[in-house]
Amino acid sequence: MSSGPDLLSNLNPTQAQAADHYTGPALVIAGAGSGKTRTLIYRIAHLIGHYGVDPGEILAVTFTNKAAAEMRERAKHLVGGADKLWMSTFHSAGVRILRAYGEHIGLKRGFVIYDDDDQLDVIKEVMGSIPGIGPDTSPRVIRGILDRAKSNLMTPDDLARSYEPFISGLPKDVAAEAYRRYEARKKGQNAIDFGDLITETVRLFHEVPGVLNAVQNRARFIHVDEYQDTNKAQYELTRLLASRDRNLLVVGDPDQSIYKFRGADIQNILDFQKDYPDAKVYMLEHNYRSSAHVLNLANKLIENNAERLEKTLKAVKEDGHRVVFHRATDHRAEGDFVAEWLTRLHTLEGRPYTDMAILYRTNAQSRVIEESLRRVQIPAKIVGGVGFYDRREIKDILAYARLAINPSDDVALRRIIGRPKRGIGDTALEKLMEWARLHHSSLLDACAKAADHGILDRGAQKAVDFAALMAAMSDAADNYEPAPFLRYVIESSGYLDLLKQEGPEGQVRMENLDELINAAEEWAQSQDHAGTIGDFLDDAALLSSVDDMRTRQENKGTPEDAVTLMTMHNAKGLEFPVVFIVGAEEGLLPSRGALVEAGGIEEERRLFYVGITRAMDRLFLTAAENRMQYGKTNAAEDSRFLEELGDGFDTIDPYGQVVEYRAKSWKQYRPTVPVTPSAVKNTSSLTAEMAYRGGEKVTHPKFGGGQVLAVAGTGDRQEVTVHFPSAGTKKLLVKFANLSPA
Ligand code: ATP
Ligand code: MG
Repeated sequence: MSSGPDLLSNLNPTQAQAADHYTGPALVIAGAGSGKTRTLIYRIAHLIGHYGVDPGEILAVTFTNKAAAEMRERAKHLVGGADKLWMSTFHSAGVRILRAYGEHIGLKRGFVIYDDDDQLDVIKEVMGSIPGIGPDTSPRVIRGILDRAKSNLMTPDDLARSYEPFISGLPKDVAAEAYRRYEARKKGQNAIDFGDLITETVRLFHEVPGVLNAVQNRARFIHVDEYQDTNKAQYELTRLLASRDRNLLVVGDPDQSIYKFRGADIQNILDFQKDYPDAKVYMLEHNYRSSAHVLNLANKLIENNAERLEKTLKAVKEDGHRVVFHRATDHRAEGDFVAEWLTRLHTLEGRPYTDMAILYRTNAQSRVIEESLRRVQIPAKIVGGVGFYDRREIKDILAYARLAINPSDDVALRRIIGRPKRGIGDTALEKLMEWARLHHSSLLDACAKAADHGILDRGAQKAVDFAALMAAMSDAADNYEPAPFLRYVIESSGYLDLLKQEGPEGQVRMENLDELINAAEEWAQSQDHAGTIGDFLDDAALLSSVDDMRTRQENKGTPEDAVTLMTMHNAKGLEFPVVFIVGAEEGLLPSRGALVEAGGIEEERRLFYVGITRAMDRLFLTAAENRMQYGKTNAAEDSRFLEELGDGFDTIDPYGQVVEYRAKSWKQYRPTVPVTPSAVKNTSSLTAEMAYRGGEKVTHPKFGGGQVLAVAGTGDRQEVTVHFPSAGTKKLLVKFANLSPA
C-alpha cells in the first residue's frame, strides 16, 4: 500500500494537480484515454491518505455497477479504508436512498422496481381507456414519452403545458393523460420504474430537507465519472447533493457524449463553469492508452464535428501498427475475416483472447460474428443483448419472488397466474381486476376474497388457493436466504413440474433456473452482510447490460480466455489491446435513425470515436459490400466516416495485401444539405439535417405518426411519400412538411 506523498507520482503534473484538488467544485475535461478515471481514483485515495477525509463521506458515481466495483478495488490498492467508500451508479444510489427514506414521500416499504416490460404492461392496461389513443398507438411510443419526460424532470402537467402540440405523434394532452394514469396505476401497485429512481430521489430531497442533509453527511465529497452523459434529472440530483458542501469533482469528455437518445444533455458538462463560477478546471492533454496511429485516426474523425469544444490530445505511446480497414464481400465474409485475424493474433503473436474485443453498432450484428468465431472455435463472451435476466423463466420466477414480498404487484401477478395454469382464465381475471379496481385493492387481495365476496362463482376456490400459495411464499421470503428461497419458489409454484413436461426445451430452462439459484448464492457470498431476497431483486433489476453479475450468468460455460463482443455504447470507459469495429457502413454507422435526427450524425461520429479510442495497440475496421438486414440482403455503402479518415488507415484485401482505398459510395445521389450549428441547436427545424432514404418513422403535426415509403428528388425539391395510419398515404415536400423523427 503506497499512500502518502509519493502516491501522486504515478500521475503526470496536471493529473496530479487535479488529484490534489481538495475542496470546492472542479471539472476535469479531457479526451479519451487521458487518465480521467485514473485521476478520479487517485483523487479519492489522496483525499483519504493525504487530507484525512473519512472514506465514509466520499461518493463516486460511475456508469455501471461493474465500474463502481472496479474503482473500489483500485482504490483499495492505493489506500486503507476504501471499503467504506460509497461507489455506485445514479440508479443504485437512488434505490439506496429511497429504500432508506422513501416513506417520507409516501413510498411503502417493499416497493418493487419495474423494468421496461413491466412498464409496457402497465401502459397497455391504462391506455385502452384514454380518449385519443387509437389501436395503432404503440405502447412503446408512450413508454418513450414517459421515459424522456422523466429524464427531463417533467411532470404530466409539464407535458400538457409543453410548447410542442404533439409529442412523438400524440397530442400533448393525450400524452399527459397517459402519463398521469400510468403514474397512478404504478403507485397503486407499490412500484417505481427506472426513471423514478432518480426523479423520486430529487423530489424527496426537495420536499424533505432533513433527508437531503442526512444523505449529504454521507456524501461530502462527490465525484461523477462520464459526466457528459448525465441527463437533467441526474444533473439535478448531483446539484442538490453538492449544494451544501460544494465538494463536487466531475470528469468527462464532451466528444464521448453518446446517450442523447436517452435524454443525456451535453450541456451539463459544457455549463459546469456557469453553474460553479469558482470551479477549478483541469485539462488533460496526453493520451496514455492508444498508439499514435490509433489516436491520430480518432482525432481526425472527431474534428469533423461542428458542435464541439476543441481539445488537444497527444499520444504518449509510439506510432505502433497502422490501422487496418477491410471491406468484405458480405456480412459472413466480414465475420470470417475477423475470426481469421483473431486466430492469427492469438497463435502468431501469442495474444490472449481476453485482450481482444469486437465492437458493433447494434446487438443484431453479433449473431453472424458469433457464428464465424464458433466455426473456428474461438471462445467468445457476449456482453449485452437479450440476456439471462430477460429470459422468460427467469422473469417468471423473479415475478413470483416480487409478488411474495409486495402483494400489491399486480403486474407480477398477471405475469405468473397462468404459469403454470391454475384454472383461472381470462374472464375470471377480468372479474378479479374489476373488483380490485372498485375496491381499491390489489389483485392478490381479490383472489383471497374471491369466494367470500362472491367475486367468482366457478373457480373461486382456485383463486383462493393461489392466494394461499402466495401467502406461504411471503412467509418463506421472510425466513429463507435468497438462494433457498428461490428454490422453494421454483418447486412450490409448480413451475418445476411445468418445465419437466416441456421436454428438451424445459430442460434448458431448468438449467437456467439452476443458474439463477447459483447467481443468488454467489451474490449472497459476495455481500459483506447477508442480504434479503428484496435486496437481491433490487440488484438484479439494476444490472446494466455491461455489469459483471449479468455477463457472467449469460456466458456460463465460456472459458476464461475469450474474445469480448459488445456494442460501442457498452464499451464506454473500457480498453482493449486489440479492437475490431465491424459494420462501418451507411445505415449502420451512422445508423439509419441518425439520419433524420437533429445532430444525429454528430452523435454517431462521437460513438465511432468512442469505439476507436478503446484500442490500445491495434485497430481493425471492417465493412461489408452486401449485408443482410431485416431479412433482406442489400448492397451496402461505406460509412461516410471512412472518407473523413483520409489516409489514416491501410486498406487490405483478403490476402492481407495493402491496396488503395476507393470509397464504395453513392454519395453523389445523396442530398447534401449543409449542417449549420444553428440548425442543430434549433430542434424545431430538424429538416436541415434530414436525408430520407425510405423506411424512416416520422411524425407530422397534423397526420401524426407515419412511415416514409419512397423518396424522390433532392434538396429543396425532395419529396417523400409517407403512409400515415390516421390519414392514408401522402406525398409531401420535405421542405414544407414539418416532419420530425418519430
Ligand atoms: P475514457 O475517456 O475512455 O474513459 P479516461 O480518460 O478515463 O478514458 P483512463 O481509463 O483513466 O482514461 O486511462 C487510460 C489508460 O491510460 C489506462 O490504462 C490508465 O491506467 C493509463 N494512464 C493514465 N494516466 C497515466 C499515467 N500518468 N501514467 C501511466 N498510465 C496512465
Ligand atoms: Mg474513463
